[in-house]
Amino acid sequence: MNELILKGAAELSQLMADGQVSSQEITQACLDRIAQVESAVAAFLHVDAERALAQAQRIDRQRAAGQALGPLAGVPVALKDSFAYAGAPTTCGSLILRDWIPPYNATVTQRLLDAGLVILGKTNLDEFAMGSSTENSAFGPTHNPWDLERVPGGSGGGSAASLVAFETPLAIGSDTGGSIRQPAAVTGTIGVKPTYGGSSRYGLVAMASSLDQPGPCARGVLDAALLHRVIAGWDPKDSTSIDAPVPDVVQAAGQTDLTGLRIGVVKELGGEGYAAGVERRFTEAVGLLEAAGAQLSEVSCPHFPLALGAYYLIMPSEVSSNLARFDAVRYGWRVNDDGRHSVEQVMRRSRGAGFGDEAKRRIILGTYALSSGYYDAYYGSAQKVRTLIIEDFAAAFERVDVLISPATPTTAFKLGERAGDPLAMYKADLCTIPSNLAGNAAASFPVGLSPEDGMPVGLQVMAPPLADDRLYRVGAALELALRQQWSGPLWAELVRREESR
Ligand code: GLN
Repeated sequence: MNELILKGAAELSQLMADGQVSSQEITQACLDRIAQVESAVAAFLHVDAERALAQAQRIDRQRAAGQALGPLAGVPVALKDSFAYAGAPTTCGSLILRDWIPPYNATVTQRLLDAGLVILGKTNLDEFAMGSSTENSAFGPTHNPWDLERVPGGSGGGSAASLVAFETPLAIGSDTGGSIRQPAAVTGTIGVKPTYGGSSRYGLVAMASSLDQPGPCARGVLDAALLHRVIAGWDPKDSTSIDAPVPDVVQAAGQTDLTGLRIGVVKELGGEGYAAGVERRFTEAVGLLEAAGAQLSEVSCPHFPLALGAYYLIMPSEVSSNLARFDAVRYGWRVNDDGRHSVEQVMRRSRGAGFGDEAKRRIILGTYALSSGYYDAYYGSAQKVRTLIIEDFAAAFERVDVLISPATPTTAFKLGERAGDPLAMYKADLCTIPSNLAGNAAASFPVGLSPEDGMPVGLQVMAPPLADDRLYRVGAALELALRQQWSGPLWAELVRREESR
């Protein structure tokens, strides 16, 4: 195993700055690793080797010429296939976009390139980011490197899996109901959903616009913070982006003393329906946070149990509207285009063939929830619940600085286990959805392996809007405490397993 693939982004940056390794060597090591493990993991939908190596070469030249470079210049990153990257296929995991090559870059993509990062390729996801396992991808599922029979979570399972398959040190995700945090939790990686409006949605294929948020994925807390800083911040091309300074997440990622920090454990997230192994690791982690100086207390958020129901009305309503643009006329896959069918027939056939079952289910649900006569009862009521959840958070954040909970009720489930049961699948996001509805910042950090099945467990931290730095402060303290306990990072266990095979 090439040692370079095990190194984090911050470490790689340092090695490049010291002249010990080039971006081309790092990029090649990642591409070699991708070639080696993709047949088993299937984290990528498209590998952009040529452009990645060209960008690496450009960065190496700039460094050799003594040009000032950003801290992540030359570091590889994997991009979820829901972000537009000019010249590369951007499928969103859907047949309907299988031939689409965007002519422009998403703001996130552009910021990665401007900061000198090397985009390795596009990662797999559930179709239009709808799902919790990547099994809804039209191009086949991604496998969890901890156990290839299990799912890597979703929708951003490709991004999360690529990190623990050691294909890349960094990845980008998008989180509408948990698609960054839930895959992070079940793969033992770090995933951060910034405050809504904290990172630009421009060029992110829209799922549910009032909930979608791009964010960083990494194996280490500092790495995630460095990536967060690159992609976050105001963007005039996204009307919901916030014109305020990005919280100092990098500085927070270096702080490991939690003295004085008030942490609330959400009473409603946990207990019945949660795996014993998840609860055990969560409780132990609470002890570690206390030992790091934090003041722990229990906080009730009485409306959180209603979040899943509200989400499954608001989200499909927005989905039904956003997915209306895929009409097979302006772009995307088109069937029956032989000149003998009407525009309407072409649209109907194309949408019928181009969308998978989950996309159709949500389009139908959303159209129903928005239809006149039902609008107030469904969409309207769900919006009222959303307000109650925002109020729960506001009341909680008067008493505590951050809230915590398990990130997911269970560890990674087996491929196929929930595929035929949408409701069981939806429950994977029980803990993550409230923060999407309220728009506050939230993240998942690894807290060990479940004693039940040996699979990773994640702890969720939730912070008030624009207090994203607090997530990193808690994450850094946890990372330090757990590194001492495990004598290294959690993922080192994966390396040991691979080497013993
Ligand atoms: N799993 C959730 C869903 O299916 C969340 C998806 C997401 O965050 N994109 O809607």
